[in-house]
Amino acid sequence: MTTAILPSTVPPEFSVNIDEKKCARCKKCTIECGFGALAYSNEFDCILADDSKCVACLRCVAMCPRRAIRIERSPLTFKHNDNFTDEIRKNIYKQAETGGILLTAMGCDKPYPIIWDHLLIDACQVTNPSIDPLREPMELRTYLGKKPDRLEFDVDENGEIRLKTELAPNVRLDVPIIFGAMSYGAVSYNVQKSLMMAAMQNGTLMNTGEGGLHRDFYKYKDHVIVQCASGRFGVHAEYLNAGAVVEIKIGQGAKPGIGGHLPGEKIDAEVAKTRMIPVGTDALSPAPHHDIYSIEDLSQLIYALKEATEYKKPVSVKVAAVHNIAAICSGIVRAGADIVTIDGFRGGTGAAPRVIRDNVGIPIELALAAVDDRLRQEGIRNQASLVVGGGIRQSADVIKAIALGADAVMIGTAALVALGCRICQKCNTGNCSWGIATQKPHLVSRLDPEVGAQRLTNLLSAWSHEIQEVLGALGINSIESLRGNRERLRGIGLDEKTLEILGIKPAGR
Ligand code: SF4
Ligand code: SF4
Repeated sequence: MTTAILPSTVPPEFSVNIDEKKCARCKKCTIECGFGALAYSNEFDCILADDSKCVACLRCVAMCPRRAIRIERSPLTFKHNDNFTDEIRKNIYKQAETGGILLTAMGCDKPYPIIWDHLLIDACQVTNPSIDPLREPMELRTYLGKKPDRLEFDVDENGEIRLKTELAPNVRLDVPIIFGAMSYGAVSYNVQKSLMMAAMQNGTLMNTGEGGLHRDFYKYKDHVIVQCASGRFGVHAEYLNAGAVVEIKIGQGAKPGIGGHLPGEKIDAEVAKTRMIPVGTDALSPAPHHDIYSIEDLSQLIYALKEATEYKKPVSVKVAAVHNIAAICSGIVRAGADIVTIDGFRGGTGAAPRVIRDNVGIPIELALAAVDDRLRQEGIRNQASLVVGGGIRQSADVIKAIALGADAVMIGTAALVALGCRICQKCNTGNCSWGIATQKPHLVSRLDPEVGAQRLTNLLSAWSHEIQEVLGALGINSIESLRGNRERLRGIGLDEKTLEILGIKPAGR
């Protein structure tokens, strides 16, 4: 069946308004817009906007020296209907015109409950005093990797007590927040450089995603998680040894159960070299790993990667949060993973079918609680660290995630927002005006990695201070003492079953 693409009748989503009295005709906005929505008209001596091209990336608004631009949601374009909403009708028109899957980017934005916002944190009052984090030590350090069941010691010939237990490799995090997987190709070189510099400055990790590691970045190896995904882009022995952690990516929160697709336009010479694929070809990662069809197969890959890295690095397995996540993670731990990374359904992406992003997967809060519970019940919680992401927006979410059982969290969208992203959800076009989700040199150069690293460092520093404040209020002086301490959480506006899965009491109890 052939599909003819028809002219669009979809009304614009946004309206661009330029105050002619304020406008200096400097034409800066016409250059700043990555989507070509603004042009200078010689005939009328003014800036003309093509509303249909505006995606509300808001770059023009931020860069206009006269504050002359206002972007608004287009006024009423359809007759109101609660069932066939504007969005649903627009999607039907687009599909009737193109015959294609609707592609989108970033995380699910549907109004499902955000459970973080229904969790309340405890505080000390009279008999158990709070701690002042400005005057007393407060520990945010944690370690990722397998922990021993017990510690055994013996005494050497000099009478010195020595640790007999052989410890598995662990990585130290000075803050319990790592930068989640965002591949080179999906994001720019300068984004990855900003993330690596910030990870190094803050004693944490960034994740290469599935696009390999640019040679320039091998020097950051103690702060990098190198990912091995189904496409095996850029995976070779040197790459695996160039990271602090090796991660097998099975699933991604934004698009569980499907593969990845980086369009050929984003595969320039450097991306191609790093991914080890030809320039300009689409980078398609298959939905499954073609060598993993069972937990035993997964175990073989985990041990192949351990072998390749001489058992010196923890191996993580990343999965999307789905219905049976607790059993899946139990299998992953038993297969030998040192870290289990779970990505919730609000996790971001450079490109995903809208139908998958908005309808597949479950919230990370429920997945985390279920997995932590299951691993504890099976007596194997110490055998792997839990890292969670997919909807971590602020320091309070970090604290709640750790109280629910996480060892650390990962942030992706929040890190990109710190770099300037306006969540316009058009990463898949490659036209990001902020120089983030693009490979176009004139756009990439807009993000200075030094400035980017500083912004990320500021964000981590601000969140760390806030986490310390809350720990102080809880009367806890170490983040590790909060891990899985659900007694310090209460639920508000949550039903009985949700409270039961979360393992917390309702507020007032
Ligand atoms: S950037 Fe602002 S002042 Fe300059 S042309 Fe555009 S609207 Fe006018
Ligand atoms: S990275 Fe760029 S294109 Fe993607 S949502 Fe953010 S601002 Fe938009």
